[in-house]
Amino acid sequence: MNNIRIKLFMSIAVLVSIAHISAMNRLQKVELHGGQADATAPALQQIERAKLICYFKDKPSIHHLQTVRKVDGWEQQTYLIMHAECDAGAQKALEQITAQKHEHFYIAAEKVQQPALALKLEIGYDPEQITVNHDTFDAITTQKGLLFRLNNRPLLQQLATQERPLLQLAHCTVGKQAKIGIDCGHGAHDVGAVCNGLVEKELTLQIGLTLAQMLKEKGMATVMTRSDDCAVALHERTTLMNKQGVDLLISIHANSAPSTQVYGIETFCAHPRLLQVQAQAEHEEQLRSCLAQRFKQAELLAHHVHRHVLHCAKQGAYTPIDRHVRHASSQILLGCNMPAILIEVGFLTNETEAKRLADSSFQRQLARGMCQGIVDFLSIPA
Ligand SMILES: [Zn+2]
Repeated sequence: MNNIRIKLFMSIAVLVSIAHISAMNRLQKVELHGGQADATAPALQQIERAKLICYFKDKPSIHHLQTVRKVDGWEQQTYLIMHAECDAGAQKALEQITAQKHEHFYIAAEKVQQPALALKLEIGYDPEQITVNHDTFDAITTQKGLLFRLNNRPLLQQLATQERPLLQLAHCTVGKQAKIGIDCGHGAHDVGAVCNGLVEKELTLQIGLTLAQMLKEKGMATVMTRSDDCAVALHERTTLMNKQGVDLLISIHANSAPSTQVYGIETFCAHPRLLQVQAQAEHEEQLRSCLAQRFKQAELLAHHVHRHVLHCAKQGAYTPIDRHVRHASSQILLGCNMPAILIEVGFLTNETEAKRLADSSFQRQLARGMCQGIVDFLSIPA
């Protein structure tokens, strides 16, 4: 009798613990994309003051606990992300974000047991300066993303009262020098893809430096996330570009695939349909309209650059495979405040393509295609 009871107790305990483990979600990565252009930049580049992007293993269950008005007039939103635990890297990143001081906001995170086992996230801000909302999205990995936007409230108000034209487009650079952001993927210990004697971080740097030179020759200013073999975190890349107020950003990468047969060129940009609106902010309409404009611009830029790069990559009988312009929610594309695209110039895992990519004159051709695509994009009337 006792034996049966013990067995029954044991199996219930095991079942409960399995249910408990399977219900746990893990925060695997978190980045705070800050930086903001000065007031001369187009509205769509200044609409967010910062973005906090969290990457979870499973779809996060978010519970808005409360809004508190503090004595100093600041507001604090408290969210519980249920049954969430942090990986070591995410924990460290959250600690750093919590320790940072910002002019109009703060972010704090801690694990709590009450009222439920959860990750508690507090976003405090000056309500005169900031509104907060959040979206979820499927990340390019299997992770689930949660994006908190800290929006520029005075600007949203201006847009709502039409004091400022909503469609102030990034490429309307008439009378001013265009400023182009170039992001050479990876760097230092983050080598990227390595195959067929090629290292992605070296290839992206070569093409990026060549592109910068070409753009300068056309009279444009350039800002690079790195111009040598150094490590730059993703949020540092986006924050730099946002601060610099570049008109557009091109991020250069090279691909790899499990199959050596796969090759070709593909270009990515973000799209509003990738985002699922979870909580709306004040002036939501103006915010979404700005974001839609930014994404539309990015798509246009992606098509111009992709078309020219494909054209320039043709060599004699060789025609690269067109893997098309695709939508993706990568960090660099979501973290940047300006139209941003990410181009994968070819597969290092494909022997034939790797051989071409190793050739400096082919690298030049790729850069030329990017340059022509940017020139084309900038000269198109709205
Ligand atoms: Zn890469």
